[in-house]
Amino acid sequence: MTPQKAVIGLEIHIQVNTVRSKMFCTCSQDYRGAPPNTNVCPVCLGLPGSLPVPNREVIRKAIMLALALGSKVLDKVVFVRKHYFYPDLPKGYQISQHRGPGMAPIAVGGSLEIEGDSGPKRIRMRRIGVEEDPARITYPSGDPTRSSYSLIDYNRSGVPLIEVVTEPDLSSPKEARVFMEKLLELVDHLGISNPDLEGAFRVDVNISIEGGERVEVKNIGSLKDIEKAISYEVVRQRAVLAAGGKIQRETRHWDPVKGVTIVSRYKELEEEYRYFPDPDLPPIAITSSIVEEIASKMPELPWHRAERYVKIYGLTRYVSRVLVSRKRLSEFFEEVVKIYGDPRRVADLLINDFLGIVNERGGNLDMVKASPQSIAKLLSLMDQGVISVKIMKMILERVVLGGEDPEEIVVRENLKVIASDEELEELAEKVIKENPKAVEDAKKNPKAINYLVGQVMKLTRGRADPQKIAAIIRRKLSIGS
Ligand SMILES: [Zn+2]
Repeated sequence: MTPQKAVIGLEIHIQVNTVRSKMFCTCSQDYRGAPPNTNVCPVCLGLPGSLPVPNREVIRKAIMLALALGSKVLDKVVFVRKHYFYPDLPKGYQISQHRGPGMAPIAVGGSLEIEGDSGPKRIRMRRIGVEEDPARITYPSGDPTRSSYSLIDYNRSGVPLIEVVTEPDLSSPKEARVFMEKLLELVDHLGISNPDLEGAFRVDVNISIEGGERVEVKNIGSLKDIEKAISYEVVRQRAVLAAGGKIQRETRHWDPVKGVTIVSRYKELEEEYRYFPDPDLPPIAITSSIVEEIASKMPELPWHRAERYVKIYGLTRYVSRVLVSRKRLSEFFEEVVKIYGDPRRVADLLINDFLGIVNERGGNLDMVKASPQSIAKLLSLMDQGVISVKIMKMILERVVLGGEDPEEIVVRENLKVIASDEELEELAEKVIKENPKAVEDAKKNPKAINYLVGQVMKLTRGRADPQKIAAIIRRKLSIGS
């Protein structure tokens, strides 16, 4: 018997961390690193008598995202109050958007095509809106179960969020991850959000097994955890159903340390939020001329950029997709190509060696200090035979993370490929003399020559071409290749 299908929908909250101020006040949206409760004002503290003023730039960015997803932008935007009680929400309600009588988000409908488990698949959007982030609760020991009290930091209160709600079109944890990667890629290229920043997005996942009740897992903050939490829920719900049990309609949260979802409270029904239009915020008209103006200024979409790399640069689809996975990476790639040429060679270095270094340290491109010039210079040094591939790999990390000039490193540390053949001849002679056993082996088995080559390389500290050394040793020992 095939297991019943999983039905998955996502509610994604993306921080608009590319604008200056919060959603309804002039405090900075960049709350990271500030001492607690210093980035606040009467509006984002929810003090009585304060009045919110919507951030126009955030609304424009939400319209941009809607256009990229082919959603229908509504001609009137309505802000609503979503009521719930929680210490991180001083007003007792969150200013948000919703669909329904008297309510109108920024846009409805649209879709994003992903590579699904069995081929291309369109994931439909239900709505796109904007809202404010609540404050942040922190625990003195970092762990709620081991702290006797909690603290509230309002610095994040009011940070602008774009909320994207999908239809339940996803069928597996992997599809959810692929979808999220593509959506984050899109908001990165549109200049809406930098997904590399801590807390840049949070996702609520709705999961059910066909025929069962829907469970919501709230506030998951990383792609890996989204995939893991869904996997866990699918297995848990199938097990409950297989044992003849019933799935409770409930809200759970994901414990990334234990790798389980835990029930947090019974789910509020939508009507319990008591949505109603915020009387402090009159509806905003979105005219067709505003939409047209935004459409005319749309940046290149990531999938169009990847297409261009295939057509103009002759790169493979796979390589192009990796390059556009981050806007900064694709811009960096284009800069290096402008200076150096040879897009395939540049792409190869960036994807294999450059990204290897970045990904080993968590993948955040903010740590890159290298300039496009220094990467172009590094490639030229190899072309001119000044350094070997081995030396390039050895110094790349300092160029990428330390921002050092490759030419300076090479000169300072004397890393040039040994130019004179005489020096290599001498070193080969020495190694042959000192390793009679290996010489015997090499005469019997040509592959065993690698050991001798390695010894010479060691003496040159990697500053020579191993092919060349191999040729010299072969000649000295009179063996064929
Ligand atoms: Zn404020």
